Amino acid sequence: MPVKGLGDYDTTNIFARILRQEIPSRRVFENEHAIAFHDIAPQAPVHILVIPRGPYISLADFTAKATDAEIAGFFRAVATVARDLHLEAPGYRILSNMGEHAGQEVPHLHVHLFGGRVMGPMLASSEESR
Ligand code: AMP
Repeated sequence: MPVKGLGDYDTTNIFARILRQEIPSRRVFENEHAIAFHDIAPQAPVHILVIPRGPYISLADFTAKATDAEIAGFFRAVATVARDLHLEAPGYRILSNMGEHAGQEVPHLHVHLFGGRVMGPMLASSEESR
């Protein structure tokens, strides 16, 4: 079911449960503001999800409610994970799906970090996405 960008945060969503360690994840990074873990269905040789620790659905929700320290800490975490996984030199892609048109499935803000191969076109062609 696609996510709407704002509204009440669902504390039972899968990433909230990963944050509470109710279900396992393969963490590669954590600090006071963010955690990062392997995507369960990787779409590239490296496919990491970076999420803020706080209960934010979308970028709109995050930037409206989070502190400046949380926002800075989250985006620094994305860059740190890319650097620590040696993706700076070859390059990598970050992507964040927001709401229905983007196909966001989990209602907790997350950035996908892809690496390990040439990523190809930025978006699927309109033919493929129909
Ligand atoms: P999105 O479509 O942007 O909301 O992406 C959600 C992502 O979460 C997908 O790439 C899923 O493969 C991933 N995902 C779902 N459940 C888990 C899980 N338990 N552990 C790690 N990744 C997950």
